[in-house]
Amino acid sequence: MPGERRLSVVPDVVKKYQGLGAQVLMQSGAGVPAHYRDDAFAGIDFAADAQALYAAADVLLCVQPPNAEQLGAMKPGSVLLGMLQPWGDADRAKLLMDKQITAFALELLPRITRSQSMDALSSQAAVAGYECALIAADHSPKFFPMLTYAAGTIRPAKVLVIGAGVAGLQAIATARRIGAMVEAYDVRPETREQVESLGAKFVDTGVSAAGSGGYARELTDEERAQQTERLAKAVGQCDALITTAAIPGKRAPKIISADMIRRMKPGVVVVDMAAETGGNVEGTVPGEKTWIDDVLVIGPTHIASRMPVHASEMYAKNLFNFISPFIKDGALALDWEDEVMAGCCLTHAGELRHAGVKQVLG
Ligand code: NAD
Repeated sequence: MPGERRLSVVPDVVKKYQGLGAQVLMQSGAGVPAHYRDDAFAGIDFAADAQALYAAADVLLCVQPPNAEQLGAMKPGSVLLGMLQPWGDADRAKLLMDKQITAFALELLPRITRSQSMDALSSQAAVAGYECALIAADHSPKFFPMLTYAAGTIRPAKVLVIGAGVAGLQAIATARRIGAMVEAYDVRPETREQVESLGAKFVDTGVSAAGSGGYARELTDEERAQQTERLAKAVGQCDALITTAAIPGKRAPKIISADMIRRMKPGVVVVDMAAETGGNVEGTVPGEKTWIDDVLVIGPTHIASRMPVHASEMYAKNLFNFISPFIKDGALALDWEDEVMAGCCLTHAGELRHAGVKQVLG
C-alpha cells in the first residue's frame, strides 16, 4: 500500500521463528522502505513477488490486509495474521470465508493482561502518539519549551491533547518532554490519574462515557453539547491541539467543530490523529494540511510508518508473541481453548467467527 513502510518480521524475530523450526519466506526487497536490506535476513528464502509468497505460505503475516487478488492467491485453509481492518470490508470477509482462511485480526485482541505483549494496536498507537506530538512541534510557529534568552523569557507553548488512550498518553509524554505545558481530556474518568502522572492537567467536562473492554462508548447529543461547552476554554487558549479520540469499529467522534476552530488563536496547529477514520476535527482532510482561517489542520496518515524501524520491530514482536505458542517443531497447532487466540479470530472454516464484527457487517 502506498505510504506503508512497516514490516511484519525483522531479523531478530526471524531467528526466533527459525528456532521454532519454521521456515521463513519473504518478498525480496520488502524490507527496504524500513531500512532492512535482504542481506540482513540470514537463512530465509525470498519470493520474487508478492503473489508467489501468498501462494506458498501456510501462515501469512501482514501489516495491511491483502487485497482481493492477493487473497485469491492464498492457499485454501491457510492462516492470515495481522491488522486486517475487520470492521470495514464485508467483501474481504466474504473472500476469507470462501477461501476457508483462518484469519486473526489483531484489532480484535481481547485486552487482558496476558495479551499485552501481542497488542499491536497499542504498540502502533504509541508510535503514532509520539509522532503526532513531533508533527505539532514541527509545524508550530512557537517554541514548545520555555526559553530564556538575553532579552527575556519565552513562555512554553500550551498543548491540548484530546483522547488519552495509548496514543494520547504518548503524545502527552512527548510534548511534556519537549517542554510544553499540556492539558488533556478523555471521556473515560480513569484517564485523569494517568494524565496527571505525566505532569499534564486534566480538563474535566463532567462527561463520563466508559464503555466495555476498557474502551469509550459513543456520546449522546446532550453529552456532546456539554463536552463542547466545557472544552471551549481549553481549545480557545491552546497553541497546539492533538486529537486522538476513537471508538472501536465506529467512525471517529467529531469533537472540534469549524466554529471552535474559528475561535482558536491565530497560528494554532491542529494534528488530527483520527484523520484516517473520519477525523475528530471538522475540516480535516486525510493526508493533507489545510488552513482554516489562520489555523493549520493536519490530517496525517500512515503515522506509524514515519518511524518504520521501531514500529516494525514492535509489530513483528507482537505477531510472534501471538502465533509462536502454536508452533511446535515447525508445525502449526492452533488451540481453540485459548481465549486470546479464539477472541481475535475473524474467520475460520468458512465462517465469520467474531460476533461484534458480524453485527457490524450484517
Ligand atoms: P482507542 O484508540 O479506542 O481510543 C483513544 C481514546 O479516545 C480512548 O482513551 C477513548 O476513551 C477516547 N475517546 C473516545 N471518544 C472520545 C470523546 N468523545 N472525547 C474524548 N475522548 C474520547 O483506545 P486505546 O488507546 O486503544 O485504548 C483505550 C484503553 O484500553 C487504554 O487506555 C487502556 O485502559 C485499555 N487497554 C488495555 C490493554 C490491556 O489490558 N491489554 C491494552 C491496551 C489498552
